[in-house]
This record gives sequence, C-alpha cells and structure tokens, in this order.
Amino acid sequence: MATVQEISIYLDGLLPALGINKKRELLRLIYEISKRDGKSPVDVLPAEKNLNFERAKKQLLLKRYPTSFSTAPKSAFYLPKLELDPAQRADLTPRPFYPQYIYIEESVCESGLARRAREKFPKAQFPSWDGKEMVGSDNFSRRTDTLVIHREKYDFLKPCPCSSGNAGCGYNLINLGFGCRFECEYCFLQQYQNLHAILLPANVQDFLDKIDGASFRKGPFDRPRIGSGEFTDSLVFDELTQYSAQIVPFFRARPHLQFEFKTKSVCIEGLLAQGGAENVVVSWSVNAAQFIERVEHFTPSLPQRLAAAASVAQAGYRLGFHFDPVVPFAGWKEAYAQAAEQIAQSVPVDKVAWISVGLLRFSRELKKAVENRFPDNSILDGEFLLEFDGKMRYPESLRQEAYAYFVPLLRKLFPKAVVYVCMEKAGMCPLA
Ligand code: SF4
Repeated sequence: MATVQEISIYLDGLLPALGINKKRELLRLIYEISKRDGKSPVDVLPAEKNLNFERAKKQLLLKRYPTSFSTAPKSAFYLPKLELDPAQRADLTPRPFYPQYIYIEESVCESGLARRAREKFPKAQFPSWDGKEMVGSDNFSRRTDTLVIHREKYDFLKPCPCSSGNAGCGYNLINLGFGCRFECEYCFLQQYQNLHAILLPANVQDFLDKIDGASFRKGPFDRPRIGSGEFTDSLVFDELTQYSAQIVPFFRARPHLQFEFKTKSVCIEGLLAQGGAENVVVSWSVNAAQFIERVEHFTPSLPQRLAAAASVAQAGYRLGFHFDPVVPFAGWKEAYAQAAEQIAQSVPVDKVAWISVGLLRFSRELKKAVENRFPDNSILDGEFLLEFDGKMRYPESLRQEAYAYFVPLLRKLFPKAVVYVCMEKAGMCPLA
C-alpha cells in the first residue's frame, strides 16, 4: 500500500498543474485503490499521453467503483480529504477491564453499582466529581481507563432511530450505558462518542419505571420489543452492573412485553443466576468466523458465543441473532452459510425468536475514523456509495443479491424465527 506522501509526490510529477481540490480527490482515489489492490501509484494511474484531471478522475472512479460507476450519480462518490493521523491508530494491546479513574456522581455514591466498583477496582483513583465537568481520555482507545457512574435524568426510553426512508422494525430502546470495551473496526461509537469513558447509570429502576404505561410499537413481532445495547454491549459489563438482576424479574412479570439483551460477550452468569424467562431474548451479534477474528477485536469467537447462547437457552431464555454487519468479502456466501449452519447445530432452533440481517453501512464521518484507527482495515475496501439516507452503503444490486441469498437460507434453517433486514430501504426484502 502506498503512503499518502508517495502518492502526493507521484501526482505532483504526473499532473503538476493540479489545484488543491482536484489533487485531493485524485489522491484519495489512488490511496483507496492502492490499499485495496496492493498496487503502487504508477500501476493505479499510469502516465499516458493527454492525461488531465478529468480523464484521470474518470479512470480512477471506474477502478474504484467498477459496479456502480456507470449507474450511480456523481454525488454518490464520497471523496473527502485524506487526513491520516498515526496518533489515532487503535491500541489493540489486550488488557483486562480495570479503570484507572472512577467518577461517581454524588447522588448515586451509595448505590450498589458504586459499591461494587469500589470493591472490584480498589487500585483505581476515585476523584471527586460534580457531575458536570468533562472527564475521560483524549484518546478513544483509552476510554476504558475512565468509568463514570451517574444518575441518568433524561434519556430513558425511545423508539429505535432507524434513519428516514428505512423499513422500521418497531424496536424500542433503553440506553443502559455508553461505551464498550470491545474494538470492532466498524463500530459507530468511534466517531459518535465524544466522552472517551465508560458511562453506566446507577438508577436502572428509573428506566424501568417509565415502561408501565408507555405505548410501544411492535412492528412485525407478536409483542413490543424493548432492548438495551444501542450505545454499548448489553452484557459486557453485567458482572459489574448486575442490570440483568433487575431487568429479568421486571419483564418476567410483564409477559405482554419482551426484552432483548444484545451482546457479543459471554457474560451470562447474571442471566443464569436469574433463571430463564420466555419473554427475555438474549441475542448475539454474529458474523462469519474469519470476519470476527479479523475485525471484531477482543470479542469472543463464534463458537464461544454459541456455547453461551446454548447455556442461556437451556436456562429458559429465548435467543436472537444479528448477522450485522454482513460484509460481502471473497467467499462470503459459503462463510455466512457456514456460520448460520453452525448456529442451527449449536442451539435449539425452536428457541430462536428472531434473526436480523444488515449489510455494512455507516455514516460518512465514520469512514475517516475507521481509516485513521484501523489503517490496514479491509472493510472500507468495498464499493460504498452515499445513499438515500445520508449513509454509505453498498450498491443496491449487491444488497439485493445478498439479502436474496441469505434471508431465505436463514428462514429455512430457522422456520419459527422472524427473519428481517435491519436499517434498509422499504421493499429491499419483505419482513417475514
Ligand atoms: S460490541 Fe458493539 S458497541 Fe462494542 S465495539 Fe463492537 S460494535 Fe461497538
């Protein structure tokens, strides 16, 4: 892969009269193609007679977007300035979760969560904190150094913010926490989370108190679904938070609703201690095994996740799976079929309540965060276009092909589950 400096020098020699903006676009295109194909700048854009900006850009766009170059509008090719900062590179050194600084808001300093944090992390510093002062690390990779235990006051219950124009699934959210200890290369929190810390609310009962009397959407499901896990993994901190100990009995007593824990972790001790509940669904985000290993850093492997899923099913919970994000890499159909079959062989199929499928999509801002934190990533090598909802997505033909292949396969393997697509244009794939 050529460096930005090498490409810049090459372009200066090839097209010396280029203006700043034109050079910026060509530089990004050469960088992306060079990274994807492992080629040098001269192989990506060879010198030729009468080469000018327009011809060069056309050649490069054709190479970068071979499927969609002739059909996509020009505005769909998103070519922001390439700004790579080595200081932002993700730190992938394995380390246990042990915050160095624990800030506890005064009003919850006697809570069970605060007490457990003091017991579990006796070597941490506990600075005094007024609940307003900005805390956390400068570096997103160091976010687990800081734990904030607070009282949530506003954001208790809300409909899932599926972007406009998409076919919603009627999901409802309670935000139990902000921040995660895993490092998935595609995680939107890298760009979205301003406060580089782990935030955990100590007043879960206040969230639960909002549920009785609230009206919920239920989408294509038999009962409304409420879940945590939008801004964090639902279970990764459960040993500390013990949220499951409050949530499971609450929902067990409300069979007209169902609650979903969504996780990649194997932190299931709290769930097992509570015994099962038919209307509590424990869902695992899953992917092809090689993708998990390459892209979802620090997370348990697929067999580890499935062993945990089998245990919670045995305890009496129902299961969910989220194939999200699906990434069509070379050999993806076989790899995803294998993962689906592995699930069907590892857990009781009739306990699977739902399975979602969503191809990788992301905000344009996330693109820059990923290429800075994971410069060797392969997930951005796909042909992403700026789409109808302002998100970067694969071309529609590829999305259609992927859903047409994978959704029927899942419906056949899991005939009782609702199999649906997540955050997609209405009509892309019918809900089951
Ligand atoms: S598990 Fe979810 S929240 Fe955690 S890093 Fe991965 S994508 Fe982000």
